[in-house]
Amino acid sequence: MPAKVDMDKIVSLCKRRGFVFPSSEIYGGLASCWDYGPVGVELKRNVKEAWWKVMVHERDDVVGLDTSIMMHPGVWAASGHIDSFTDPLVECKSCHLRWRADAIEGKKCPKCGGELTEPRMFNLMFKTSMGPVEEEASTVYLRPETAQGIFVNFENVVTTSRKKLPLGIAQIGKSFRNEITPGNFIFRTREFEHMELEYFVKPGTDEKWLDYWVKERFDWYVRLGVKKENLRLRQHGKDELAHYAKDCYDVEYLFPMGWSELEGIANRGDFDLTQHAKCSGKELSYRDAEAGEKYVPYVIEPSAGVDRSVLAFLVDAYEEEEVEGEKRTVLHLHHSLAPIKVAVLPLSRNEKLTPLAKEVFKRLCPRFVTDYDDSQSIGRRYRRQDEIGTPFCVTIDFESLEDKQVTIRERDSLAQIRVPVEGLEKVIEAKLRGEAFDASTLWATRQK
Ligand SMILES: [Zn+2]
Repeated sequence: MPAKVDMDKIVSLCKRRGFVFPSSEIYGGLASCWDYGPVGVELKRNVKEAWWKVMVHERDDVVGLDTSIMMHPGVWAASGHIDSFTDPLVECKSCHLRWRADAIEGKKCPKCGGELTEPRMFNLMFKTSMGPVEEEASTVYLRPETAQGIFVNFENVVTTSRKKLPLGIAQIGKSFRNEITPGNFIFRTREFEHMELEYFVKPGTDEKWLDYWVKERFDWYVRLGVKKENLRLRQHGKDELAHYAKDCYDVEYLFPMGWSELEGIANRGDFDLTQHAKCSGKELSYRDAEAGEKYVPYVIEPSAGVDRSVLAFLVDAYEEEEVEGEKRTVLHLHHSLAPIKVAVLPLSRNEKLTPLAKEVFKRLCPRFVTDYDDSQSIGRRYRRQDEIGTPFCVTIDFESLEDKQVTIRERDSLAQIRVPVEGLEKVIEAKLRGEAFDASTLWATRQK
């Protein structure tokens, strides 16, 4: 088992380099709320784009959707969230800390050993009121999952997309859960982002499709560079299945705090559509004209957390190594996830170098997320780019002024090649796609 980085190092890197900041920090922060900084927002967008690309754009059996966070309260009554989306809450009678009864061992307060109250069920949905009058009738909830927005639009999407089953509807968006014990940095937060697919299938084919999606989703993390030995699948026991689920698998990742859920892939059966049909009075079934049959589809749901995926990618990419007697911290992020693809670094802030360096930047920035940095020593600038996972650094030196060539340095191997400014963007593009970085040509063109 490779030595895992501890969470403090990740949190500190995230703060230092601008991935993630504590929310409202100048006011002392707000528990379990976090803000994504300049490079964090790029990483997070890349994770969502990587998901959307394979789940929606590269398939002809999935379409996207973006539904509102606040929905008719009837939705949550039908889905079971008002009655069943609860955790057992206990409170310490001496220090008044609150705990999830099922998450602590024994009958004493884990903090002070004090006596605990009897558990009471605590609903995890955030409540607010809509409109200027606060009264029972105006109560709305912040959605605890994006899935319900998909179920209530099933009919709209089937009608307008003109697609046949199996059909998936995908959505990325914020969800809210008033967790009793959030924690572990961005792993469990009360406000978070979901990436969810509801894949509607003919009953009887559901088990096959569950297997398909479990494999597909596991492989997604591997394809994006997560080490296989840090991932595992875990099937839920019958006693831990959610009220709607027939079967469920978790993709788990070996986080610094141990194996924890990254994504759940559930067979929800026909629970949701049946419930919404019953409670709304609208028929929610699928008519297969060719086969002359009508049925309520079953649903396979891969449901992933954006924030915990970001955390897993960060943890997995993190490495400390020694290079020429100096410690180097590097994020070996997959090229498609790296916040910055290429950094343009003039050797120094010399006025003779600036025009060519700016020209190189202008050439690259329309095609790739490009950083321009000419402050401090070149060594410090390399270290910064390594720590945010930038795959390539382009250095402009005094020789560049004469031969119109620049040096590209590769993050992982530290190999360098010398290439002409003309056509530089094509070289970077090929390298980002995974073309080998041939260090045997090191300085080759320079010696010609
Ligand atoms: Zn206590």
